[in-house]
Amino acid sequence: DKLKESKVYMRALFDYTPLEDKATPCQEAGLPFKRGDILQVVSQGDQTWWQAKRVGDCNLRAGLIPSKQFQERRSFRLSRKDRRGSSGEANVSDQNDTEFLIYEEVTCYQQKPNERHRLVVLIGSLGARINELKQKVIAENPHRYAVAVPHTTRPKKSHEKEGVEYHFVTKQAFDADAENNKFIEYGVYKENLYGTSIEAIRSVQAKNKMCLVDVQPEALKALRTAEFKPYVIFVKPRIPESRRRRSATTSPGGGEHARITEEDLQEMRLSAQQIDQQYGHQVDRVLIKEDTASACAELRSILERLERETFWVPVSWVK
Ligand code: 5GP
Repeated sequence: DKLKESKVYMRALFDYTPLEDKATPCQEAGLPFKRGDILQVVSQGDQTWWQAKRVGDCNLRAGLIPSKQFQERRSFRLSRKDRRGSSGEANVSDQNDTEFLIYEEVTCYQQKPNERHRLVVLIGSLGARINELKQKVIAENPHRYAVAVPHTTRPKKSHEKEGVEYHFVTKQAFDADAENNKFIEYGVYKENLYGTSIEAIRSVQAKNKMCLVDVQPEALKALRTAEFKPYVIFVKPRIPESRRRRSATTSPGGGEHARITEEDLQEMRLSAQQIDQQYGHQVDRVLIKEDTASACAELRSILERLERETFWVPVSWVK
């Protein structure tokens, strides 16, 4: 047998604990991993059990992991059982019926000097205020970073310029664009429509600037293309475990509101949990926001590294 180093790498999209896996032929031989870990798959010879190593692990020996097909099959069985068992309760697995998050094949990617910048996508949980973060980082360095100019149907204000703050369009034009899938996302705010077009991102990238967008996490799926190679940053405010003090001087995430109730905090925790659960597998980096200044500094340093360092991306993005 030729012992060639395997070039197959998978990002794990679920947590795996061999000691809790009754199906494994040998629990001690199993390789435990967490969602987000990169696994080097050494052998796919067996249909049910692959052999893999964790990248960045000092342990040189490979361990057993469930093959994609096998894990898919048992996730499917489990989801059907879940559905029968739950009586009308909302169930996460109901939302994307056939898609199970098992592994995603990835490869190393480094942006070449004359290549288009990756799209930087910010998502945030309740209280993260990502738009402010984005605006600050861009304002510090407008030659390098820019926003995609959104479309809106609201009237232009006197100080605003067409194509700077917004592209101001009629409702008919907006609807037509939406119908033709020109927007990566859109929504209603105070009875006006707002949305960011794919073209708006492209035009920033054409100027050789890094484009930053903040979107609802539902938009991630549409953005995950080889063209944009999005780098997804999930910003969540640091939320204290449980508050004993009667009054806080600052709110989580650096807000100015002094009075935040325990219910508010609970809502923020829930929002972060929900996004993590539903979209965590599409996130490249979690940024815990202590206050605005430190979060800006951290975001800036992430953006600088994005141009220089190597990152794991889906193989389908690199041809
Ligand atoms: P304003 O009319 O004050 O400029 O913006 C009001 C609100 O519109 C913003 O706070 C933001 O929530 C929303 N908005 C601005 N741009 C977009 C966009 O591209 N997409 C969506 N969904 N909302 C936007």
